[in-house]
Amino acid sequence: MQVRCLSCQMPIALSQATLYAALDQITDENLSHYDVRCPRCRKTNRVSADQIKRGAPGWTREREEQPAETP
Ligand SMILES: [Zn+2]
Repeated sequence: MQVRCLSCQMPIALSQATLYAALDQITDENLSHYDVRCPRCRKTNRVSADQIKRGAPGWTREREEQPAETP
């Protein structure tokens, strides 16, 4: 998935791993958006949680259901 920097118009690629991490944070912190920093101008771009969910439809919060790996 790609977003475009609102400041310098540079396309910013968001990998699946980035999207998943973003959704984890959104869920944990109950956010409505995720901040993506532009690598060129370092301006922070807000990407809505809905937009990120559309970019990573396979994401599920399955980690919570797994037992902790304690020896
Ligand atoms: Zn930029």
